[in-house]
Amino acid sequence: MKVSKRAQEVPPSATIAVTARAQELKAQGVDVVGFGAGAPDFDTPEYIKDAAIASLKAGQTKYTPAAGIPKLRAVIAEKLKRDNGLDYKPEQIVVNIGGKHSVYEAMQAVLDPGDEVILQTPYWVTYPETIKLAGAKAKFFQTDASTGYKITPAQLRKAITKKTALLVINSPNNPGGFTYTPDELAGLAKVLEGTDVMVMSDEIYEKLIYGDTKFVSFAAVGKDAYNRTLTLNGFSKTFSMTGWRLGYTAGPLDVIKAMARLQDHMTSNPVTFAQYAAVAAYGPQADEAIERMRVEFEKRGKYMVERLNAMEGVQCTESTGAFYSFPDVSAHYGRNIGGVEITGSMEFAKALLDQASVALVPGLPFGCDKNVRLSFACSLEQIEKGLDRLEQWLTK
Ligand code: PMP
Ligand code: GLU
Repeated sequence: MKVSKRAQEVPPSATIAVTARAQELKAQGVDVVGFGAGAPDFDTPEYIKDAAIASLKAGQTKYTPAAGIPKLRAVIAEKLKRDNGLDYKPEQIVVNIGGKHSVYEAMQAVLDPGDEVILQTPYWVTYPETIKLAGAKAKFFQTDASTGYKITPAQLRKAITKKTALLVINSPNNPGGFTYTPDELAGLAKVLEGTDVMVMSDEIYEKLIYGDTKFVSFAAVGKDAYNRTLTLNGFSKTFSMTGWRLGYTAGPLDVIKAMARLQDHMTSNPVTFAQYAAVAAYGPQADEAIERMRVEFEKRGKYMVERLNAMEGVQCTESTGAFYSFPDVSAHYGRNIGGVEITGSMEFAKALLDQASVALVPGLPFGCDKNVRLSFACSLEQIEKGLDRLEQWLTK
């Protein structure tokens, strides 16, 4: 049957593909160590599950307003005020069906054909596709280890053209594991003053920060930044609720209203009892539940980066946020390992999986072929085992 040109041009998600392949091999009995996962390995906190069960039992099983129940929009507004110092009215918030849906819908709501979007590398795999699906063009900006993979104000100034409609910021970053400092964000915001460039700030890893890292919302760096920014966040990473499919977008009323209209026809409301559970998620037990997971991630990330940097030809910056290490392994390109020519990250990842049963995500789909992504959303035991294998494989 005919498949639209638009759909033909969208590749599968590389992150989902690696996770699926690792699961498939595991089901066949192969002892795979999976570093592919983009999901916390903890269960959703019990108090949130209890709230969902109570909601179901109370018969909250019907449609709700498409943009979300008023109570949840109000609770999110309170959260944005309390945690981020941002003033959003509940009407300025739309609850989406996962953060991925927030990204898609935001792009649909603000972009037109001919518009350009500044997207720094490394970028999360979904951004270029959602930009393309909105008919716009991603203008990739290559960063490297010399700036900690961050775009600097001077670089941003040069990258802006008359066609630039949007800048995507994702901090803490997937896959880079870096976090922009408040000063760095203020520097970027200054460059945007006087332009018509909007900002999509994806803050989904906000709560997963390490060491003395400070998180600040882009919209919180000043009034000008606030007025041009869509703030995206969700429940997947903070509360280990990836399967619940709940994200949200806060921003200027006209854009949020446009997103809500799109949502009226696209999906209608997020799952009703999941929304009631999300109201409970931000309750008094939240901080403790989040901290329990964060502390674990911090331990694992530290261990992973030390091990990686001890390996021949591997260079990795310590992650300040999210749960990914993104080492540069390009010193191994040009080698033949186990009979396979390693020409780039794709061959690296495939040969490692085939020969040593370790699954990681190649850097190419994130725009950085020198790197590979290892998630530390798995147990320390698995991390140790997988890194032992990687180390042995590299010295083959
Ligand atoms: N933004 C980033 C940077 C992500 O890594 C992800 C998923 N891992 C999302 C958004 C979307 O998450 P979800 O759809 O599960 O809410
Ligand atoms: N976003 C997560 C990741 O980067 C989950 C997979 C996906 O949705 O792409 O691995």
